[in-house]
Amino acid sequence: MVYLRDRREIEAIRVAAQLVARTLDMLGREIRPGVTTAALDRLAETFIRDHGGRPAFKGYRGFPATICPSVNEEVVHAIPGPRRLDDGDMIGVDVGVEMNGYYGDSARTFAVGEVSAEVRRLMQVTREALLEGVARARGGNRVGDISHAIQTHVERNGFSIVRALVGHGIGREMHEEPQVPNYGPPDRGPRLMIGQVLAIEPMVNVGGPEVVTQPDGWTVVTKDGSLSAHFEHTVALGPNGPEILSAAEGE
Ligand code: MG
Ligand code: MG
Repeated sequence: MVYLRDRREIEAIRVAAQLVARTLDMLGREIRPGVTTAALDRLAETFIRDHGGRPAFKGYRGFPATICPSVNEEVVHAIPGPRRLDDGDMIGVDVGVEMNGYYGDSARTFAVGEVSAEVRRLMQVTREALLEGVARARGGNRVGDISHAIQTHVERNGFSIVRALVGHGIGREMHEEPQVPNYGPPDRGPRLMIGQVLAIEPMVNVGGPEVVTQPDGWTVVTKDGSLSAHFEHTVALGPNGPEILSAAEGE
């Protein structure tokens, strides 16, 4: 079942997604060498609740925390804990918020202190791949047009795109249909319609695309131990094209 949202509902999703964006802005100012991922999680939970939202990940299928802080070779779904960030690390932070029955979902990858040129390039290419996908999120296109644009940009730059995890519809639930893969041929898959809202989220590896889940049952890491970055936006398919509901100010 694919839902088409009217303007009122899209604005309600935007309110939730904007609280996600402001939470990520806040975390970006707190990320530095020495901070623990648990401390970042506490800051995020307090910030979201203080602004009238509910951390959407907490309790979702038993996930114990507000944010998924995925460091270096961790791809997504890492659990906050006592790990201290080191100078030169990269950290992907994924945040979901529910507000008034609507969901927003967004992720960014941040540099910790001074990072290598490779880390900077990985983050840049992943952010660009997300925007390439967003640009194809238009009524009349197909899901595969988003997927293909993302894969093409990533591989053209010598990195690999994770296949085992995908983007998704979002709205009244955090995960709705359709699935939005980050790879595949263009002009395939479900037809996109104005009023759909999608979470588009490429995960990009320096090495191979294979991933494995750690024994904690959550943390997904690259199989070859290479670095991985993740960016995600909640995007409405408006009458005049894509609207990034989780955009940071000025984006
Ligand atoms: Mg997310
Ligand atoms: Mg998501």
